[in-house]
Amino acid sequence: MALVFWGSTKCDLCRKVLNVGDQIVTFPNAIQNELDPLYNFNDKVYHLTCLMNSPQWNEIDLFLKQYSLFKRTKTCVVCEQLITNPEEYLNLGCLTIDSKNPLFKYNFLEFHKQHFKQWSEKWEIQSQLRQQKDDKLWSGNSLDWILEF
Ligand SMILES: [Zn+2]
Ligand SMILES: [Zn+2]
Repeated sequence: MALVFWGSTKCDLCRKVLNVGDQIVTFPNAIQNELDPLYNFNDKVYHLTCLMNSPQWNEIDLFLKQYSLFKRTKTCVVCEQLITNPEEYLNLGCLTIDSKNPLFKYNFLEFHKQHFKQWSEKWEIQSQLRQQKDDKLWSGNSLDWILEF
């Protein structure tokens, strides 16, 4: 997560220094696909108004809403139990901001590592990921571990 130093850190859109009292958004490092239109927003800091005025605000807004929902859960998709041990925790992050993309429904899903291995839909994610890489719709290796998991 990007750190903010008031009076020194700059908004990545307007390049002005962020000051105490400014409404800001720290963009999480959660977008996995390097070809995603929002990939370059990862891990940067913005004035809320600068984001809202950006042409990608609709996608950003959707992403931030999904992100804030997931932050409150920590429940395993497979066994539906609360995940309490960080060592056992696995999270898919944001796979796509395009709601028509078949990977969209897997955004931010959380698992016990052991349960992800056994999960019936794991194959669906693996084949989609392979397909999108073959079709040059996906770049980067952040989720390559799924292909071998
Ligand atoms: Zn700004
Ligand atoms: Zn579980």
